[in-house]
Amino acid sequence: MTATSQLAQLVAACHWIGQQGWAPATGGNMSVRAGEGFCLLSESGKDKGSLTSDDFIEVEIASGQAPSGRRPSAETGLHTLIYRLFPEAGAVLHTHSVNSTVLSRLEKSALLRIQGYEMQKSLSGQQSHLDTVEIALFDNDQDIAALATRIETWAKQRSLRYGFLLRGHGLTCWGKDVQEARRHLEGLEFLFNCEMQRRLLERV
Ligand SMILES: [Zn+2]
Repeated sequence: MTATSQLAQLVAACHWIGQQGWAPATGGNMSVRAGEGFCLLSESGKDKGSLTSDDFIEVEIASGQAPSGRRPSAETGLHTLIYRLFPEAGAVLHTHSVNSTVLSRLEKSALLRIQGYEMQKSLSGQQSHLDTVEIALFDNDQDIAALATRIETWAKQRSLRYGFLLRGHGLTCWGKDVQEARRHLEGLEFLFNCEMQRRLLERV
């Protein structure tokens, strides 16, 4: 698949994310791997529901710098981290949904454990509701470089798969291409919604 068609799919995914209300008030950022050593990342301060392909900036994965001098998202360092950690990752989606924001505060431990849901199978490689999906949770930080270091350390010592939650902030997830990243986002958001409602009703 060409970088151009992946960018077109990413723009469509951004419009869908905007419609879901998962990137309010210009929040969130999205990217796609584009060629050797680069990704295309959404420009800071733009409404994600009405982005066009011109709103994506070429960023060097190794340095996090944009050769054009335009300003990519404040959270660029988290996108480039994922591309560096996982050579198979082709797209990264970062959203600020209510469910990911609240659930990440309710869960006090370093892992959100999801078990018992058929929709776990929306995540690549998951085959049964009897298995447990573990989503890592990190305390939010305005220092993105420090946050990226903490996430990198975790990834090297433990497992980091599908995505991670930033406490009181949102979800970052990825896939081998835009289509898979989008399915992971939708699946995780569904599971977070179920888990929120279960905790509310069971008062756990
Ligand atoms: Zn964010």
